[in-house]
Amino acid sequence: MFGLYAREARSISRMAHLRFFPQAVVGGSGAYLTGDDGRQLLDFAASWGAASLGHSHPAIREAVNRALSDQAGASYLSTANEPCVLLAEKLLSLVPERARGRVWFGHSGSDANETVARMVVAATGRSRILAFEGAYHGGTVGSMAISGHPAQQGAVKVPGLTLVPYPDSYASGSSEAAKEIVLARIEELFATEVPPEEVAAFFIEPIQSDGGMLVPPDGFFKAIETLCRRHGILLVSDEVKVGLGRTGMMHAYEHSGIEPDIIVFGKGLGGGLPISAVVGPEAIMNHAVAFSLQTVHGNPVCAAAALAVLETIESENLVENAARIGTVLRDGLEQLARRHSIIGNVRGRGLALGAELVVDRESRMPASRGSALAVYRAFELGLVLYYVGVRSNVLEFTPPLTLSEAEARKGVDILEKVLADVIAGRVNADVLAGFQGW
Ligand code: PMP
Repeated sequence: MFGLYAREARSISRMAHLRFFPQAVVGGSGAYLTGDDGRQLLDFAASWGAASLGHSHPAIREAVNRALSDQAGASYLSTANEPCVLLAEKLLSLVPERARGRVWFGHSGSDANETVARMVVAATGRSRILAFEGAYHGGTVGSMAISGHPAQQGAVKVPGLTLVPYPDSYASGSSEAAKEIVLARIEELFATEVPPEEVAAFFIEPIQSDGGMLVPPDGFFKAIETLCRRHGILLVSDEVKVGLGRTGMMHAYEHSGIEPDIIVFGKGLGGGLPISAVVGPEAIMNHAVAFSLQTVHGNPVCAAAALAVLETIESENLVENAARIGTVLRDGLEQLARRHSIIGNVRGRGLALGAELVVDRESRMPASRGSALAVYRAFELGLVLYYVGVRSNVLEFTPPLTLSEAEARKGVDILEKVLADVIAGRVNADVLAGFQGW
């Protein structure tokens, strides 16, 4: 245990503690973080820390410094400041016509989703919300209330929430069958306990990321969109984790050929600074005004950082880079899967990738302990990884969008050693003390 980490443990709540990463970070550059022992750690969990442009990107540093001196970093009276207006105009230019109304700014993915949930119910007069089992929409009471991740069992749920199973193509063995079962379940719900005319919104994650980097089967979200349109249900795409270029398209929903009514951005939007945004039709978004004024939303420094992020994604062609380097990384992971049967399945899009670890490929039993050990061993060998999944057995790969081909290959090389050590039992299993998955 290094000095700063020990002091963190003595002074800061364990609640927000990242497990299997027992070190404090003192800086970073590009795809690397610097530990307080001077070690360079290749960051393949950048979506976690929102480092979409990598660490210390000059465009963000300059934008933040400029906003600090121009605006004194003040908490202005809400969003009537130049960086916010420019950012709102930029976001509106990025979304499809049906969502191009107004923008609301928050601080995190959680408060953004929570606001959407309140807004759609208030604006439509409908009291029900649909979301997916396994979905993670946030960690505040309101956003947990519309989430279906097992880590949030016991959380308060909104009375009108109905969770629908999410099609897991790998677990069920067939994406087509998984899709049909879920669509049939929704139709059944509509015909029985969930009258569709009472449903205000359907929340989707275009890739269910914390649930296990689950890519929807072909045509699945198109079918959901059709159902929503038929019944006047608002389709909400939570792009917080996989949006803004990460999947190799600007918006992750674009892969499904759908046009959501409401789009939620967070994490990478601020490049590490706390800002989230909701974009949607004017009639819905203006309904929120009465009850959604927060003290420092619309902070000009955060908005300036977000604007720099969006501009840099364009000027450095990071959407294309995510697609291109994503292919390199995915190929590398698939090669590893050929050599190590602990990898049951590799999936994802662009630089939002996952590898499901299994005890054996026949039973597909989750290797949850193996995943935790892999995360810890990766930390020891200089690679920042995390695991996701409703069974805590999917290694997540979400490096910065700026990742180079050499960095992608280096990450795969480290991972190969990590897996070999996990399989050979060379990782200190004491780190698993008390581990029961999420
Ligand atoms: N939505 C999605 C899809 C997420 O992955 C997350 C965080 N993992 C959130 C919302 C919550 O965002 P935040 O942690 O910024 O509150």
